Amino acid sequence: MSVAVALAEVRARIDAAARASGRDPAEVKLVAVSKTKPVEAIREAYAAGQRAFGENYAQELDAKARALADLPDLEWHFIGHLQSNKAKLIARAASLVHTVDSVALVRELARRVEASGRAALPVLVEVNVGNEPQKHGAAASEIDELMVAIAAQPALRLRGLMTMPPFGDPEAARRVFATLASLRSLHGGTAVLPELSMGMSQDFEIAIANGATLVRVGTAIFGGRG
Ligand SMILES: *Cc1c(COP(=O)(O)O)cnc(C)c1O
Repeated sequence: MSVAVALAEVRARIDAAARASGRDPAEVKLVAVSKTKPVEAIREAYAAGQRAFGENYAQELDAKARALADLPDLEWHFIGHLQSNKAKLIARAASLVHTVDSVALVRELARRVEASGRAALPVLVEVNVGNEPQKHGAAASEIDELMVAIAAQPALRLRGLMTMPPFGDPEAARRVFATLASLRSLHGGTAVLPELSMGMSQDFEIAIANGATLVRVGTAIFGGRG
């Protein structure tokens, strides 16, 4: 299947899932996860109208942003675990960092954004909702502390929450997505945290039913990563 056809199918599924839960499809943004895929695949998706792309390695985002600098309205979303020493690589190019999960990272990212001279960088707090030991993300009990740390940095702008559910278990995913939505309500609601980044190829429809505003879809658009 071509990237353009796969994208059209995913968009149609997003629209249907939004309507099925009484939501406006325009509230759900598709982030096409292009990690490990060549820049040609991104150009193909761009030609089909896609503008937001997700990467989870800082070096790869940096290299692709340079290679595609001729496409000025591309949006780069950083969705991987960010080590403080890699913050510099994405500080300028990223439109949204989905994975802020420590105060140390907040400080380093803010420092790098300031040094780059760009406008404030929008960020999400990644929450390890299921408290899975092998996963990154802040514990729910750390959200307040992170919100305070981000609010203290003029270089960063808090936009919402992000999570990754356990793999291959739709019922567990539903519970995790519903929990993220209630954590948002607990911490100021949509006025403070307008974005919920949740849902991947296998579960984005469940995420939309639970309020996702950003879905991160790779395999269903670009094929498997081998
Ligand atoms: C790879 C990745 C995705 C996309 O996963 P698919 O199953 O290919 O859709 C979404 N979010 C994160 C954080 C990822 O690392």
